[in-house]
Amino acid sequence: MSGVYSVWTQIVDDYTTPENIDAYGSVHDVFAEQEDDDTGTPNKQFCDGQTSKTPPRYAQDNMIGIYTRSEESAQIISDFLRQDVIARVNSGELVLRAIPSWFPPGFIPPTAAPVAAPGAANAAESFVPAQTREEAIARLKDITGATNIDLPDNLSLDGYNNILRATEDMSMKYDIKLTSIRHANIGANARMGGKTLTFDTGYLTSPGRVPTVIYLDENIQDQVRVLRGYIANNESMLLGETNRTAINRINRQIHDLEARIRAVQDCRRWSISNSVTSSSRLYYTTTHELYHLVDASNPGLLGVTGDGIFDNAVKELMESRGLTRASDFDALSATVSDYARTLYKGTKDGRMLNAELFAELGTALDAGLKVDPGLAELFNEIMKGYEI
Ligand SMILES: [Zn+2]
Repeated sequence: MSGVYSVWTQIVDDYTTPENIDAYGSVHDVFAEQEDDDTGTPNKQFCDGQTSKTPPRYAQDNMIGIYTRSEESAQIISDFLRQDVIARVNSGELVLRAIPSWFPPGFIPPTAAPVAAPGAANAAESFVPAQTREEAIARLKDITGATNIDLPDNLSLDGYNNILRATEDMSMKYDIKLTSIRHANIGANARMGGKTLTFDTGYLTSPGRVPTVIYLDENIQDQVRVLRGYIANNESMLLGETNRTAINRINRQIHDLEARIRAVQDCRRWSISNSVTSSSRLYYTTTHELYHLVDASNPGLLGVTGDGIFDNAVKELMESRGLTRASDFDALSATVSDYARTLYKGTKDGRMLNAELFAELGTALDAGLKVDPGLAELFNEIMKGYEI
């Protein structure tokens, strides 16, 4: 008697869950698993909680089965599917959050190549570098209308050119008007206040001093430690709790915290300007700050009560996916950068939060970095209306 075998498959992209990717290409003996179920053996791998014995196993797992009559054919299909995923990861096209159990032992994913400033290796690029600091200052004044430009004496010509190039690139798309560009010791890389762009003096002269990977790892570990502490507190509250409503509430909080841990761990970069080559950091820091200027210059774009055009588009995107929780917002923003979630963490009700998400998202797209495709689409669509 011939059997029936199935191979699990689905579309795999950067946002496919690690659980699904682990099951991707797995071969199942359908008859044997159905029999398992019929005899009442609890089989978590098959039809758990479902009334149907046919796929999908879980209501929304997005997976489908390819059926064959022989195990050998199923194995050939499985090998083909899995080799394709390995090849996509090796080429850098696909970035997985966890290495699947079926990957070759000791597999090391290629590290994401740092992003260079646009045109760094492209002779056809239209940017013409300033030959002197004086020329860079004159051009910055000319583009932005700034009357006061005060940058450190020891800022390299290359540094000036990074700021100039970012400003010229942004001015091609948006109306960039500043009153001054200056430096001070501000304890952050840069800040946009009104129409004043302030760089940190130390950052300007050594923008490569923060080692990206170490910073990201430490930041993630710290956040996970804090979140695990909250979970432990919640779990101890559960012990001895008899009230159903209270139990449900605590369980929801634990679920939410676990989702936040996943969002933090999935986050691929601390900030955009920390994910680029050290010579491009000033370029992307400037770009990020100028997106704040675009925000501030267009009052309806981001609302102070979280009801601007951009805020509403993000809300609609989440609603269209059935996402309602704060942790869902965290996870969505984390596809841009850890920093894109910053203001969210400082507030209670999820409002007035999107300024960093907006600036980081614009910068990420300019840098050609991968972000959630829905966010990319809504940003590009909205910003068409603000381009000059
Ligand atoms: Zn910012």
